[in-house]
Amino acid sequence: MSRPTRSLAAAALAGATVLSLATAMPAAAQSSAATTQPNSPTSAAQPNSTAQPNTGAPAAGKCSDEPQDLPIHEFTDHRELGIELDRIERVSGGRVEVEEIGRSNQDREIWSARVGHGPKSVLLTSEIHGNEKVGTDALLRLLDFVGTSDSAKAQKWRSELTIVAIPKMNPDGAELDRRGNDMTWDEVVEEYPQLADAEPAWNYYTEPRQGDDYSQRPGFDINRDYNPDLSYEPKPEDLPGESADTGWFLSPETRAVRDVYVDLTEEFGKVDTYVDLHHQGACYVMPDDPDRFVTMSISGKFVDDPATTPGYEQYADDYDLDYAKQLNVATYNALQAKANDNPLFGNITLYPQDTNLPGTGLGSFALNGSGAVLYEVRGQTQTLGQKYREQLTKTVYFGLEGMLSSIATGQVDNLDPAAYDAIPPRGPSIGDAEATARVDEP
Ligand SMILES: [Zn+2]
Repeated sequence: MSRPTRSLAAAALAGATVLSLATAMPAAAQSSAATTQPNSPTSAAQPNSTAQPNTGAPAAGKCSDEPQDLPIHEFTDHRELGIELDRIERVSGGRVEVEEIGRSNQDREIWSARVGHGPKSVLLTSEIHGNEKVGTDALLRLLDFVGTSDSAKAQKWRSELTIVAIPKMNPDGAELDRRGNDMTWDEVVEEYPQLADAEPAWNYYTEPRQGDDYSQRPGFDINRDYNPDLSYEPKPEDLPGESADTGWFLSPETRAVRDVYVDLTEEFGKVDTYVDLHHQGACYVMPDDPDRFVTMSISGKFVDDPATTPGYEQYADDYDLDYAKQLNVATYNALQAKANDNPLFGNITLYPQDTNLPGTGLGSFALNGSGAVLYEVRGQTQTLGQKYREQLTKTVYFGLEGMLSSIATGQVDNLDPAAYDAIPPRGPSIGDAEATARVDEP
């Protein structure tokens, strides 16, 4: 799919982010977006009404996706996650139920937290890529709010929604601060002896990647390990597969999430909404302004239309792209409103729409009828560390807050799916193209 033209994107942007554009971009916000960039008030103070690239100091060349060793201790690690979930469960007075839903390959607990008793089920997952940590912190804040607040909003959510959050679903990758999990092909074959003669899966990492050495500790990109056939069992003829194929549930982490999804489907008829929280490259800029980094890209489209894709026709009746678009519009609108407080919340773009990834959680669950939503905040730990943790955590939180309120009130059904297509597309990355390519995957 080709991107909308610049003028279309600029028109959409001008309509949607008038508040953020009208507000002079504070130097503090700008400097927090690019450490080495000199303050360039011209880039922000100009109303930019023509949507031409600014003539002020360009950010180009001032951002890199090359891996660095950066501090991450402010993020919630696995041990802290257990403590915090336990605390939330305790102070919620029975509203939040925390459960161990499985163990990772290295025997770490994978927890779910459930809150609310409404008819619409919402599943939220984070840190399927262990170097993408903001979502976990955002989910903890969300659970704390909905579990403890007596506000009308929280009460509405609890009565209309059943929220199940699985923060840090790949705890082994998270502890290693890397994308993949921590599992060898031999361990897969031990679990599935029928694969003894099969070629290892295409998403099995055994070489350095994003600054991590998988040669000593191999692992899988488990966000290619899902299958829309939720009862799928691995078959040797389906290996090694490729990016456009379905996955196999080879990892205990994806099986744990799959089992929760299946249980919710049995309980509610379907999982209304599924959100997966990620990070993308650090150097993407707005389509009309190379001085403004993209704070977050969002998407509701992960697979080719099953109605016209051979082998996927059985999913066509359940697949509901329009609903996914409405959920994204709810997210987008909420963040544009927040741009009034801080322009960085307004720098939201549409993730590339030409993806066909049925082996992702989003792809597989979308094919099963869930409104699927991807959040991709700026920069993984190897490029930004914890530098923008608070800003990005708030971005995810406000996006989820707006989306959940929209579902709970039913407003989401009144949103125009076409507004999704008017969200500005992600602009180019101004980092080194090769380094960016290595991080440009959901
Ligand atoms: Zn990711």
